[in-house]
Amino acid sequence: MPRIAPHGAPNGPTRHRPSERVNISQKDSIYGYNPFMVERVPSSDETVESLIGPDDPAAFEAVNADGGAALQLVCDHASRVVPASLAGLGLDDDQFDRHIAYDIGAADVTRLLAQTLDAQAVLAGYSRLVIDVNRPPGHPESIPQVSDHTPIPGNQGLGEEEHNRRVAEFFEPYHDAIMEDLGHLWRRGKPPALFSIHSFSPEFGDAVRPWDVGVLWNHDPRIAMPLIDTLAAKGLKVGDNLPYSGRDLAYTINLHGGAAGLANCAVEINQNQVRDAVGIERWAGILTEVMAEILDTDDIHRVQEY
Ligand SMILES: [Zn+2]
Repeated sequence: MPRIAPHGAPNGPTRHRPSERVNISQKDSIYGYNPFMVERVPSSDETVESLIGPDDPAAFEAVNADGGAALQLVCDHASRVVPASLAGLGLDDDQFDRHIAYDIGAADVTRLLAQTLDAQAVLAGYSRLVIDVNRPPGHPESIPQVSDHTPIPGNQGLGEEEHNRRVAEFFEPYHDAIMEDLGHLWRRGKPPALFSIHSFSPEFGDAVRPWDVGVLWNHDPRIAMPLIDTLAAKGLKVGDNLPYSGRDLAYTINLHGGAAGLANCAVEINQNQVRDAVGIERWAGILTEVMAEILDTDDIHRVQEY
């Protein structure tokens, strides 16, 4: 496994623009550089330049670090950004306005909640099409070759090395940040809770998803049950493990919450309701109110295995 120089490392390699990276092998110099098809096998002591270039954002965004609440917020699908080195994964720009690239509205709801609940938040810095941080590495949807019937050219035919680099550069820093934040919160006092914010597309193929919001949970009911009840009491149409089930798709909350016995839950907001600032503020307000009440109970802040 080659070392990957962190961005800005004092002794890091000279950076090249992708178009200059043609002298990787004879084959590439003959056929021209194709960022999607290069099978690069560096020697074990060779340093490989980062996929994240100097003009790209970091692999994660930390908001309100050292917030006062015993609560960690996470947003797996916050971003639609692709690093310049991956050349838009071969997709047209308008594909990045779609739900296949990110969860519309989820990042801004998360940032607002971090303020209103005085909670730490970690948001993924890159599109789920680069790598889905809510899937384990190796899962067929981790680096999807097709998403909602759209083929992703830049994800076709990747070798082990390219998979491992995306894991190392985008997936691991995000999850490491969540782990560090949770450890920090826990050392400071009572066991923290974990709350994950997503949004869902109201149409998927021919299926219409009628819910205002879905609550996704696996085995731990401590946040999910009161959240479902209080949201429904506000007259909202609430999906209990719908449109997705937390028993199928809950990698991040299982990894950082469930495995540690920390109270955890994910929410999926109908993306049509968080497309603009008014909707985002409305949903941040709703979730602030209900989560503040739930977090005020002792049951949430103890270790419990399910
Ligand atoms: Zn999502």
